[in-house]
Amino acid sequence: MRLIFLGPPGAGKGTQSLLLLQRHGVISLASGDILREAIRGNEPIGKEADRFMKAGQLVPDDLITGLMLDRLGKLAKNQSFVLDGFPRTKDQALALDAWLIEHRHKPVDLIIDFEMDEDKILKRLEGRRICRTCGASYHMKNLVPKKPGQCDHCGELLQVRPDDQPETIRRRFVVYHRQTEPLLEFYGSQKKVRPVPGDLEIEAQYQALVEVLKKERLVA
Ligand code: AMP
Repeated sequence: MRLIFLGPPGAGKGTQSLLLLQRHGVISLASGDILREAIRGNEPIGKEADRFMKAGQLVPDDLITGLMLDRLGKLAKNQSFVLDGFPRTKDQALALDAWLIEHRHKPVDLIIDFEMDEDKILKRLEGRRICRTCGASYHMKNLVPKKPGQCDHCGELLQVRPDDQPETIRRRFVVYHRQTEPLLEFYGSQKKVRPVPGDLEIEAQYQALVEVLKKERLVA
């Protein structure tokens, strides 16, 4: 299966792609994680992206498109994948379509639209924490680390994501409505968009997602 996860920040995209990886071996390419990795590694691309991310804005299309298509190119042709957070603009979507055709990949099967209202997202993101070393994501209520404040994988300290401050989150909503939401219409005309509620508990949301995938015969 080839999926795109669309939806505002905090609607469950990252958590659900992790579950799809664990339970169905679907590789997740998360654009935000890939950018944060480049920032932690002091890569020039990370340095360029950092200021946009801190400001709650999108990084330039050519930067993220280059990174994501490069990662896609490293997957086997029949590998199932989720694109989590990419594309986020129409130009990125067009570049992705052109790349899939050029490299003789099948088109994306479905766009999952994680629906969520903004007040609930603000509340939810208050509890989000991230490992400052390996980037693993936690939630103080819904995805609690085994030891308080410490990463289960590498033992390092957890921190609030720099772009999870309420002001920055509000800016990210505005950016989402202006630049990313129009993609629903773009993919809607191809009849590929399927909604999944964003305000469910993790397991209930996963079941809702799997129901959609079953209906489309993407999982048994
Ligand atoms: P995320 O972890 O998906 O919430 O992304 C965090 C930040 O990374 C976003 O607020 C953007 O600044 C940047 N970013 C991630 N994906 C993209 C994308 N497809 N296009 C532009 N910027 C992106």
